[in-house]
Amino acid sequence: MTTQKRRRSWAEPFKIKMVELVHMTTKEEREKAIQEAGFNTFLLKSKDVYIDLLTDSGTSAMSDRQWAGMMRGDEAYAGSENFYHLEEAIRKYYGYKYIVPTHQGRGAEHIISQIMIKSGDIIPGNMYFTTTKLHQELAGGTFKDIIIDEAHDPDNEHPFKGNVDIEKLEKLIKDYGPDKIPYVSIATAVNMAGGQPISMQNLQEIRHLAHNYGIPIIHDMTRVAENAYFIKTREQGYQNKSIAAIIREICDLTDGATMSAKKDALVNIGGFLALNDEKLFDKARNMVVIYEGLHTYGGMAGRDMEALAIGISESVDEDHIRARVGQVQYLGNKLIDMGIPLVKPIGGHGVFLDAKKILPHLSQDVFPAQTLAAEIYLDSGVRCMERGVVSAGRNKESGEHNYPKLELVRVTIPRRVYTQAHMDVVSESIEEVYLKRNSIKGLAMVYEPEYLRFFQARFDRI
Ligand SMILES: *Cc1c(COP(=O)(O)O)cnc(C)c1O
Repeated sequence: MTTQKRRRSWAEPFKIKMVELVHMTTKEEREKAIQEAGFNTFLLKSKDVYIDLLTDSGTSAMSDRQWAGMMRGDEAYAGSENFYHLEEAIRKYYGYKYIVPTHQGRGAEHIISQIMIKSGDIIPGNMYFTTTKLHQELAGGTFKDIIIDEAHDPDNEHPFKGNVDIEKLEKLIKDYGPDKIPYVSIATAVNMAGGQPISMQNLQEIRHLAHNYGIPIIHDMTRVAENAYFIKTREQGYQNKSIAAIIREICDLTDGATMSAKKDALVNIGGFLALNDEKLFDKARNMVVIYEGLHTYGGMAGRDMEALAIGISESVDEDHIRARVGQVQYLGNKLIDMGIPLVKPIGGHGVFLDAKKILPHLSQDVFPAQTLAAEIYLDSGVRCMERGVVSAGRNKESGEHNYPKLELVRVTIPRRVYTQAHMDVVSESIEEVYLKRNSIKGLAMVYEPEYLRFFQARFDRI
């Protein structure tokens, strides 16, 4: 603690060894590019982007140690040495007993959904995530949101907006009966709420309630390290515990986990399913060979598993996580000082702009967040993404748009990639767009794919 107090800044605990040159564009080039992309930042070419804050998924910079690990890839079809390193890292840092590697997070979500969910089941969770919910639905289940109401209010400064409303959970269990609930789906650092953490106390309460009814907890641990940092800095009794110890405590309260290793675990591709129950593990291991690959690689190359094993150990480092979240807070605080409406408190992996407040003259039918993301790109070549009505998709029964309370633009920061000066440019560009907000008009959707429409939908100016 004393050494931490003496340190002044969140500055990065690394130096730059190699650089990647980026392309600077003119306004005309950007206008052409965004039109060709149908005003969907997912459809922009990376070469047309200056600062890429589309996502923190798979966009992290690996360390020299991870790159050295890549050279030690054992590309055997079966029983790769790197798989055992990965298994060891997961057992050591997360404590889960059995692991099934997958190509990325949704591969694990697919398997867990197929082996645990029956048609007609209910899956309670602390706010939906796009791929998680879709896999639950494809398996015949229905997702029910049990996050606290505060999470839907961008101005509410609750320190743990990822918490579950225990009464909502209990009511669901009573209404449907525990037999209809195969597991409770709990995410750490809830992505769709703006990277908001769940507290240890809340997790303990969920565990107590769920286990009383014999219902297991499956942990979406994609951003568990960022969540642990918030517990350390905000929850009483955790200030002197290490990030590694807090992560372990979180995992120990749950029965299994899906992981997109492309986020906190500092690799460009990979994921896994982790379980404590041997019977379930057996089913999962049998299923992985159908969809992902043999159970000792699950869609990952040996070198990728090695980089992941090393990435996991780096992700629990105190200085790393302090700088990572510190950079996000730096950008967020700058935007707050500029008067830009955003989700508070600032989250762990990005800043979420409140498009409803920035563009109050636009109804959700003309996609304010989609519009705002396109305008920011046009202004500076900074790419961010929509998290609002487009991402929320349509109601399964009525076919109408789902109209989420939160209509956000996610400005997501890759780990260890950009500098403080880049963050300054980002904030200046967002301010520029904010200043001319009254002249901004909405978009019309001209092409809509059936699943996860935000990835490929196309729009036009109205
Ligand atoms: C990214 C993500 C996933 C899905 O993982 P992929 O690696 O993209 O397949 C699941 N849950 C959360 C919270 C995520 O952020």
